[in-house]
Amino acid sequence: MELPRPLSHSSIAMYRECPLRYKFKYVDKIPEKPKHFFSFGQSVHKALEFFYGGKAPPAPSLKELLESYQAGWVSTGYRDQAQEAEYFQDGKDILTEYHRRHARTFAVPLFVEYDFQFSVDGVPVTGKVDRIDRLEDGRLSVLDYKTGKPLAAGRVQEDPQLTMYQLACESQLKAEVGRLIFYHLPTHREHVVERRPEPQLDILRRRIVDTAEAIARDRFEPAPSEKACAWCDFKGLCPVFNGGVSQPQDELAGLIDRYGDLLARMAQDERQAAELKSAILDIFARKGYVRAFGARYELLRGGAEKWEFPEGNKKKVLGLLKAAGLYERVLAPSAPLIQKLLADEGADPSLRESLRGLGSRREACELKVKPL
Ligand code: SF4
Repeated sequence: MELPRPLSHSSIAMYRECPLRYKFKYVDKIPEKPKHFFSFGQSVHKALEFFYGGKAPPAPSLKELLESYQAGWVSTGYRDQAQEAEYFQDGKDILTEYHRRHARTFAVPLFVEYDFQFSVDGVPVTGKVDRIDRLEDGRLSVLDYKTGKPLAAGRVQEDPQLTMYQLACESQLKAEVGRLIFYHLPTHREHVVERRPEPQLDILRRRIVDTAEAIARDRFEPAPSEKACAWCDFKGLCPVFNGGVSQPQDELAGLIDRYGDLLARMAQDERQAAELKSAILDIFARKGYVRAFGARYELLRGGAEKWEFPEGNKKKVLGLLKAAGLYERVLAPSAPLIQKLLADEGADPSLRESLRGLGSRREACELKVKPL
């Protein structure tokens, strides 16, 4: 059976949610955009891998755990620095609490981040288990960390991910699984169930084989749904979003989409930068600062006086300048040369006064950003 790659829990889930999305990702190998929730999950998982990575107790100190978290932080996919900082702090809080709860009873697991490859009726299956412990009765405890929303009721009893982990561990480690756990990190709630019964394992085996057969038969129909399409990066290629016309999936189409995405992100970044600048300038103005520091950057406030003249006054401004024989010195009333004239102490004071009466002064503040 021809498959683009061994199946995994997530690729099976993607195929079953939308076969076309699976094709774009695994057959056409079109890269997806980084997602902040994957980056966050990866960062916290890496820190826990470090926590359990030692060969003997005691557990690493909280300081060591948080240093490892910081060093392994994955910063891609966040909307902006503020969102990234918020998630970073959430992860710190989660790990601090995790350490408080588990450091004293720390024991070295049987495996951390255990890679598996096995086959079901000839279909290759691959994946990674977060943690495997040995129970007192010699059986295995299989655990998966979750960093997202709280788990829906009944999920731990049904979720095919844990079923697959049981199949994988029993197939590769030749030991019986006694316990399956989803550990929800944000709430530190452990959802624990006994091993899956044989009929449930059979359902998963059937699902793996059916999925493999459908992929091998090139069954890649789109299956739009709110849940599937919300985070799908392939809308630009998907016939559902293009009036039923499939777009060419060549190099140019990929470049066009990446370019469009980049411009959209730049526009969003610019808007956010303007909002941040305005919030910072407000604080500078309230506190009278001209210089302040973040953890990684220094900001210096610069500024220049600017004069603006309403449309209705521009003729009068030109009249005044002409009468003073200065018309040639400026190209238009709003030109920077008028600024110069208004700032020029040697210029005719009454002319400057009259010009000031026609315009309004505002301060244009600039912020110079320097990395520390
Ligand atoms: S946009 Fe929706 S229907 Fe189209 S490939 Fe993505 S998930 Fe499937």
